[in-house]
Amino acid sequence: MTATHSTRMLILGSGPAGLSAAIYAARAGMAPIVVQGIQPGGQLTTTTDVENYPGFRHVIQGPWLMEEMQAQAEHVGAQMMWDTIVEVDLSDRPFRLIGDGGTKYIADTLVIATGAQAKWLGLESETRLRGQGVSACATCDGFFFRGKKVAVIGGGNTAVEEALYLTNHSHDVTLIHRRDSLRAEKILQERLFKHRGIKVLWNKAVDEFVGGEGNQGLVGLKLKDTRTGETSTLDVEGGFVAIGHHPATELFAGHLELDEDHYIKVTPGTTHTSVPGVFACGDVMDKVYRQAITAAGTGCMAALDAERFLAEEDFEVEAQAAE
Ligand code: FAD
Ligand code: NAP
Repeated sequence: MTATHSTRMLILGSGPAGLSAAIYAARAGMAPIVVQGIQPGGQLTTTTDVENYPGFRHVIQGPWLMEEMQAQAEHVGAQMMWDTIVEVDLSDRPFRLIGDGGTKYIADTLVIATGAQAKWLGLESETRLRGQGVSACATCDGFFFRGKKVAVIGGGNTAVEEALYLTNHSHDVTLIHRRDSLRAEKILQERLFKHRGIKVLWNKAVDEFVGGEGNQGLVGLKLKDTRTGETSTLDVEGGFVAIGHHPATELFAGHLELDEDHYIKVTPGTTHTSVPGVFACGDVMDKVYRQAITAAGTGCMAALDAERFLAEEDFEVEAQAAE
């Protein structure tokens, strides 16, 4: 027989957003259940050095940070479920969700922290050199390329912002775009074109990320002209793929309002979604910042928003009973 779990607060996702929500909810006595999903600990478990999460003077490791967050959440009373949600019914409260083994979850409030994944070009060399010069996050990894030549691939807001950001660390940044015009906002384009440290290569696609001898990591890119087919090379030690992200929201399409890029829409300044009692936090609702600290921050907000939502509801029920 499949199990059924009932809870005041169900949290989907065990990255920084989900676990921060769990810590706050558990400390508020709500005994939250966290469904961890296929990537327990979230995106940070796929990286090594983290140097920008506050509180640590020395470099810490992403997987270690997430183990500590989980241990803290469990210590204060959150329950972890090794499961992935495959079905949701948000049409009525309590909400009903089903895990991939058939386990049922009945929840008074739902916090969605299912994150987002960077899109990749899909090259074998890109996968092989990921973490060794190839990255999808300049804010996270740019610091490791101080004084080195770097390239950004893409032509949207993310690519332009990443190129501009990288000039804090490198005086030789190349933006590589497959067409002859950018889709980034005009103001960002202007900043990009004005910047002396950035050059743009138009109509170029990356054919291969080239690794050096032994553990040297990335040393260059093989490029192909998208109009002529002509090939060329570019020496770089950092290659930042910035061609967009996929928020993990397939499950919620038709149940919650999503924006044009499929991110969950929230009321600005809060984590309230279009369905009362459902809250969203972290990368699944944030296409601008996408950092562990911002995910943790909005995770805290989601737990507080959910707690207040339930408290107001309890107050109304008590007030009606007293009439
Ligand atoms: P995620 O970390 O993406 O977690 C999503 C969670 O949702 C996962 O646990 C997943 O299993 C779960 N999930 C998904 N679908 C379901 C489902 N159907 N049911 C249940 N659970 C589900 N940020 C920094 O601040 N500093 C850094 O140095 C840094 N380095 C990075 C390096 C790399 C290689 C990457 C990829 C990212 C890095 N980031 C860094 C970004 C940071 O990891 C993310 O911003 C952050 O993890 C987002 O947290 P989140 O909790 O919103 O989502
Ligand atoms: P995006 O707007 O979808 O742009 C993706 C870019 O990558 C496009 O230029 C696209 O080229 C290119 N691309 C896609 N697949 C590619 C491939 N296989 N090979 C080579 N190039 C490829 O994504 P984004 O820049 O991440 O932005 C996503 C959303 O977030 C947008 O709505 C954006 O406005 C928003 N955002 C906002 C901010 C901000 O407000 N500051 C910051 C970041 C993002 P083509 O142009 O040829 O299609």
